[in-house]
Amino acid sequence: MKVLFVSPEVVPFAKTGGLADVAGALPKALEELGHDVRVFMPRYKKIDPIKFNLKKLNAETFEGKIPGSDVPIYFYENENYFGGRDELYQVKGVDYEDNLERFAAFCQAALRFVKEQNWRPDIIHCNDWQSGLIAVYLKVSYGNDPFFKGTKLVYSVHNMGYLGTFPKKKLPLTGLGWDQFVPDKLEFWDKIALSKAGFVYADLINTVSETYAKEIQTEEYGHGLDGLLRARSKDVYGIVNGLDYDLWNPATDPKIPENYSPTKLAAKSEDKLELQLKNGLPAKKTTPVIGMITRLADQKGLDILAEALPEIMKLDCQFVVLGTGDLKYHELLTRLKNEFPEHVGLNLGFDAALAQLIYAGSDMFMMPSRYEPCGLGQLISFKYGVVPIVRKTGGLADTVHNFDLKTGAGDGFVFEEYSSAALLDAVKRALVAYKNKTAWKKLVKKVMNLDYSWNTSAKEYVNLYDKALAG
Ligand code: ADP
Repeated sequence: MKVLFVSPEVVPFAKTGGLADVAGALPKALEELGHDVRVFMPRYKKIDPIKFNLKKLNAETFEGKIPGSDVPIYFYENENYFGGRDELYQVKGVDYEDNLERFAAFCQAALRFVKEQNWRPDIIHCNDWQSGLIAVYLKVSYGNDPFFKGTKLVYSVHNMGYLGTFPKKKLPLTGLGWDQFVPDKLEFWDKIALSKAGFVYADLINTVSETYAKEIQTEEYGHGLDGLLRARSKDVYGIVNGLDYDLWNPATDPKIPENYSPTKLAAKSEDKLELQLKNGLPAKKTTPVIGMITRLADQKGLDILAEALPEIMKLDCQFVVLGTGDLKYHELLTRLKNEFPEHVGLNLGFDAALAQLIYAGSDMFMMPSRYEPCGLGQLISFKYGVVPIVRKTGGLADTVHNFDLKTGAGDGFVFEEYSSAALLDAVKRALVAYKNKTAWKKLVKKVMNLDYSWNTSAKEYVNLYDKALAG
């Protein structure tokens, strides 16, 4: 099967969130299953052609390979929209004001590219609003083009909180006519939502966990599109993300001070000492460390966490956080750090290497999300022997099962109600379990041996593509 995989971010080239991890790993797994997958993304300024050994294919395309694979990746070259920009979508929390123009150009380039290459994909797999317009271009602009006859489109939404909305007046800049500006097409509360192109025109819609696929069809989680998604209910699927264990493996991770594995666990506490030292916290192997690595956004449950933290800090534990995002959370966490300097390690910024040290050095991992499409943090935590504390929502509900100290069943600490009291209760349960050395060690080994590799999920994607082709 020929698959064009389009994503605005792909690991290791550019990343702001979990989508990049998916886009760096799923194509590799599909290739291993024998499919002809090619990836298309913008070349941002930070993607250095020399560093990544990219070759110029034509005036607007660089060509490379996803590292560790033979998967071809093509970069759309446009100095004005991408090559000259320091960031992907925004600077200091403020979106580039021409994001619509930028990603409309990107979407048009994707289709132009496959035509010029005379490579007709069976499936075009678009991801998030940045590639949504491809669906309407394919079905409307290229609707009668024999080249794309039989090409099906799958649209994956990785987070309903980002719909790609823009002022109505920008519609002509997409090249589309005003006939698209109606509620059952691209109009969204008198604005344009680029994601709606995907939701309306894709042959199948997909999201990143089964629970989230159901949740987005409800008012609470649908961000105003639940009606549309309910109307397309039979076309909406959920496939949980896998994890690229080539990149995420404490036994081989080159960024952590000591490598460890389920049979060589003692070394993990060396990483913990390093983490504590780096964060100016008392270096003590026996003090449980709760790590958190996150975008600092409303979605991530920081309000209930902030409410619970003063209580948590009275318990015998440390909290190390790495994140960047909304200014209000930068301020809030800074206040907490000042209030509890001996208990809180604060790292404001995006730092992939430090993230690896936090996974390696923590005992527990905090994800109190208000909603969570899939979540990668908990899957990485498992592999690094870190037990997640999560709210039961979306992909967290599908992957983390509450631990029972009596029976040993479960692999994390789960709470359901979105409240600081419920969160605090889960932390207390985790700390009680931590004190039981034998039970804890068994739990750590168990989570490290869970298998969330891409193999299973990639096969499910192939089934999904087959469904689209059969439809
Ligand atoms: P989302 O996609 O909503 O941001 P996920 O849990 O699916 O959340 O994926 C987040 C990914 O980004 C994880 O791999 C996490 O380790 C990483 N990450 C998030 N914030 C940072 C940061 N400040 N520095 C380094 N890595 C980060």
